[in-house]
Amino acid sequence: MKQHFDEHCIFCKIIKGEIPSQKVYEDEQVTAFKDIHPAAPIHLLFVHKNHTQDINHTLAESPQDILDLFAAIKSYTQKERLDDRGFRIITNLGVDGGQSVFHTHFHLLAGKKLPFQLA
Ligand code: AMP
Repeated sequence: MKQHFDEHCIFCKIIKGEIPSQKVYEDEQVTAFKDIHPAAPIHLLFVHKNHTQDINHTLAESPQDILDLFAAIKSYTQKERLDDRGFRIITNLGVDGGQSVFHTHFHLLAGKKLPFQLA
């Protein structure tokens, strides 16, 4: 498995266990943990163990990682039966997207009927 860490990246530190997190899912390629500032009753972050900066970089450098992430999301949501009532996946890119951690990740939001509200 191709795996690249960035020593300054907070999500790489979580993956390596150097800083604490509440992990809910792990496979060979992907880790998921609870967001420290939850925006919904269930708010998880799915991150690939191979560091890339955002989805455009992932697609350019290591596109298989995107499939690994969605496979992990499918596996987790089916196991937890979140697909019964549904859920939302979000990824932010850049300043206007509101990206604050520059390690590609997908937010999984669930646990209530989510409003579609941008401001
Ligand atoms: P984004 O703004 O899309 O880059 O998302 C980054 C997310 O990471 C935010 O929702 C933060 O609340 C979350 N976050 C930042 N640091 C941590 C941490 N140490 N553990 C869990 N979630 C974190």
